[in-house]
Amino acid sequence: MSGEKILIVEDNAINQKLLVVVLRPCGYQLICARDGEEAINLARSEQPDLILMDLQLPKISGYAATQTLKQSPETADIPVIAMTAHNLQDGEEKAQLTMIGFAGCIIKPISTRTFPGLIERFFKTHTLE
Ligand code: MN
Repeated sequence: MSGEKILIVEDNAINQKLLVVVLRPCGYQLICARDGEEAINLARSEQPDLILMDLQLPKISGYAATQTLKQSPETADIPVIAMTAHNLQDGEEKAQLTMIGFAGCIIKPISTRTFPGLIERFFKTHTLE
């Protein structure tokens, strides 16, 4: 139980619930946003240790929200992991995510079996590789 604060940004209520149910037993402090605007506001006010960012979001996309966070000194250092249903097989989209400043990408649907371990390892190594 390390108690890191994680901001979950997901507009799909079922996916959001799933992430909360899977991560809660690990002892993290979980906060949730449903669109890119709320994500930016909560990142600023809550200063989470990690942001899990869906890319397709209402109001402001996960790409644009992350760009904003990375350009603001008060949030630039918060690692952001992209979550997308889109399989990034060609390196081009992956390279674009890296350029924006994403720390990594998780393909949905998440595996409830391996997801908590992935996040735990990310906090230790700062990479998903
Ligand atoms: Mn979405």
